[in-house]
Amino acid sequence: MSAPRLEIRLDLIESNARSLVDRLERVGIEVCGVTKATLGSPEVAHQMLDAGVTSLGESRIENIERLRRAGIKAEIALIRSPMLSQVDRVVASADVSLNSEIAVIECLSASAERQCRRHCVILMVELGDLREGIMPEDLMEVTRRVLKLPGIKLRGIGANLACQSGVIPDASNMAELSDLATSTEMTLGVELDIISGGNSANLPWALDPETAIGRINHLRLGESILLGREPTRRSLIDGLRSDAVSLIGEVIEVKLKPSEPRGARGQTVSGAVLDRRVGRRESKQVIVALGTQDLDVEGLVAPLGFEIVGVSSDHLVLRTASSALEVGDELRFDVNYSALLRSMTSPFVTRRLLRSELSSPLAC
Ligand SMILES: *Cc1c(COP(=O)(O)O)cnc(C)c1O
Repeated sequence: MSAPRLEIRLDLIESNARSLVDRLERVGIEVCGVTKATLGSPEVAHQMLDAGVTSLGESRIENIERLRRAGIKAEIALIRSPMLSQVDRVVASADVSLNSEIAVIECLSASAERQCRRHCVILMVELGDLREGIMPEDLMEVTRRVLKLPGIKLRGIGANLACQSGVIPDASNMAELSDLATSTEMTLGVELDIISGGNSANLPWALDPETAIGRINHLRLGESILLGREPTRRSLIDGLRSDAVSLIGEVIEVKLKPSEPRGARGQTVSGAVLDRRVGRRESKQVIVALGTQDLDVEGLVAPLGFEIVGVSSDHLVLRTASSALEVGDELRFDVNYSALLRSMTSPFVTRRLLRSELSSPLAC
């Protein structure tokens, strides 16, 4: 079988999504299932929809177009601000987009009018993480202008934390978003359907029984559904599986090697100067045909009993005490979100979608 390859267990993605949808439904929050780490995989999208997500979220218009070509009719949100150069494609394929620039929303409106459609927007508010978002004091004025645009329907407001600066969603910033929703509605006499609190980093807040949810009624979830973890501490969320996605690599060398390199030393391939021993004593070294051309190796978790000791463009070097390993064997690694993203976009990594542990793979 070809390696390296990502194996994606669709049944586990569905059960993770279902668990989150059910728990959040109890507190009045609906889930937008974010497929961006899977390059807009229609199969993954179908699993999320079967599990009860009310819409899909994607950061790239190309992936939204892929979902549409696969016949997906569900509501899809573009979760990165549209590029001005892509507004026509955004209006044609996405139902909703997350926005923070009035110039973009004006162009979306003009494009929607030309296409005889209405495009929905969610206005993103800056709540401290310093990535996208309108400054809270400017929200009222921007909203006022958006309401005048004939091609646009304002669906709500939202925020995104824990990305650029790692700011944790909590009672204080979520209450601020709720209050902004209420004051905007009161001042402008509008109704906001969606108050989108954030991403998987919001889950510790949202799932805590002590939490006052306020007006938040929507979360955009990717990592937690795919990998079972919340991103602020990368801790496993109760009841979710972390092994829905794994990366399989093939062993190309197995040898006993000394604990220390031999010869005068300069920089390694990555530019570092290695001053440590590789191990305490001579041990079994395994090379897997995987490297930085395939993924972000920092995000790989070695199987039990193996330790990653080095990586270059095409070689992943591990040490192990395990004896039963031969050239041609495969090793299975857990991936974090960035390793998943990068390996999905590598032309060297193939993908197998599995309905369950024992099923045969689907073409993808
Ligand atoms: C990626 C992204 C999400 C999903 O984040 P996860 O941590 O994967 O749940 C949600 N909203 C925006 C704006 C994003 O860019």
